[in-house]
Amino acid sequence: MSNDKKDKTSKQPKEQVIQLYQGAKRIHPKMAKGRFANLRILAILATQFVFYVIPWFNWSGRQAVLFDIPERHFYIFGLSLGAGDLIYLTMLLIISAFGLFWWTTIAGRLWCGYSCPQTIYTEIMLWIDHFVEGDRNKRLKLDKEPWNFRKIRIKFTKYLIIFAVCAWTGITFAGWFTPIREFVPALFTFQAGGGSLFAAAFYGFMTWLMAHQMREQVCKYMCPYARFQSAMFDKDTLIISYDEERGEPRGARKKNAKKEDLPLGDCINCTMCVQVCPVGIDIRDGLQYQCIGCAACIDACDEIMDKMNYPRGLIRYTTESVLEHEYTDADIKKRLLRPRVLGYGAVLLVAVIAMITSIAFRQTLEVDIIKDRGVMLRENNRGWLENAYNLRIINDSEREQVLTAEVSGFDEIMLTGLPSEGLKVPARETITIPVQVSTIPEYADKGSHPIEFRFTYREADSNETNTIVEKASFIGE
Ligand code: SF4
Ligand code: SF4
Repeated sequence: MSNDKKDKTSKQPKEQVIQLYQGAKRIHPKMAKGRFANLRILAILATQFVFYVIPWFNWSGRQAVLFDIPERHFYIFGLSLGAGDLIYLTMLLIISAFGLFWWTTIAGRLWCGYSCPQTIYTEIMLWIDHFVEGDRNKRLKLDKEPWNFRKIRIKFTKYLIIFAVCAWTGITFAGWFTPIREFVPALFTFQAGGGSLFAAAFYGFMTWLMAHQMREQVCKYMCPYARFQSAMFDKDTLIISYDEERGEPRGARKKNAKKEDLPLGDCINCTMCVQVCPVGIDIRDGLQYQCIGCAACIDACDEIMDKMNYPRGLIRYTTESVLEHEYTDADIKKRLLRPRVLGYGAVLLVAVIAMITSIAFRQTLEVDIIKDRGVMLRENNRGWLENAYNLRIINDSEREQVLTAEVSGFDEIMLTGLPSEGLKVPARETITIPVQVSTIPEYADKGSHPIEFRFTYREADSNETNTIVEKASFIGE
């Protein structure tokens, strides 16, 4: 045998191409109909009303809700918060975090399924898909079709609508941070500021990228909440679950077949629960971290159960304890008040009360007394010894304030530097003004002496006054 022949017959290892990266397959979920789909629509309408409409509301001649970052001033209807009020932002974050913990402990991923912006915008994109390209089967078919005029026309129409939705979403987002009634006309006359324009373009682009392109990939691979939520779950947390004991063994059957005559459970293996799932999982495989708790599979399965004349709830909201027969679905409500829920609830309540109280009693004017270190104790033209201070006055309100001050600490003490008719502090401004405190030399002996400033302020057109008391030190010889 020649060498050539030998080479041809000897076994060569087969060449294989191994993909180190597996691209995600596009999921085309079927549109679910039912109680929970209706709830989701309601949640979308409510949240999107807040997002798209609130920026257009006016309040006392200005945008009702505006987060003016360049001016470091936030307006929320009647509330006007300045740089000194950042504590409320911290409190709001704490309340949001504990609210989420509390809610997750009770109801699992209700936030993900009904109100997370990722879920909501993905759902809106799916509505557009459904509206333009048709239901799941038509979309799958269209994706497989070679490019032709019809496909180009359909895809072009869809992307045009998606572009309009994303662009308007971006413009609205920017409108929370810049007056929207000025921003929108400025956009169309090419006079919009660069910062606002960038915010609108960036948010619009991210809406398209996250909600249309990446969809469930964001929940599966990017969202940290999916990973740590299990720490908040307990055996009494509501989860969406397939009742394996009732459903298995699964299998197809004739519609009118008598249940008692079949060696099968209630699952007819129609796969409708899988077809409607926006993350492409099979709930029958058990609790999975990818499940966003949207309840589409409940609606789909309930519809099938109705058609089969079987009781609803093969897939349902339940708890781990119910699945382990510790109690029944009817007892779920009784397990609501458990230590973890009460603990998170108590912290949440305290934080909410603290925030409301502190906002209700907050001072709209703040005064910081800063000792002027560059000026030592000096004698003034009356022969008294004086210390110099700078008053930093922050007016967080939307009205001009008039401030007067007096000082105490010695029997003989005088404050100079403020106008006798009161210092006018313009709305939303911070001003710094030098003042002097003086006393007779007998009192200004060596060391630090406590003194007290008492500031009184009122709105320029009002007689109602507020008082701020601040402590300071007078440094003697
Ligand atoms: S929808 Fe219900 S019956 Fe159909 S496969 Fe899913 S669990 Fe089974
Ligand atoms: S398994 Fe059900 S609840 Fe979970 S994401 Fe899929 S459809 Fe939604």
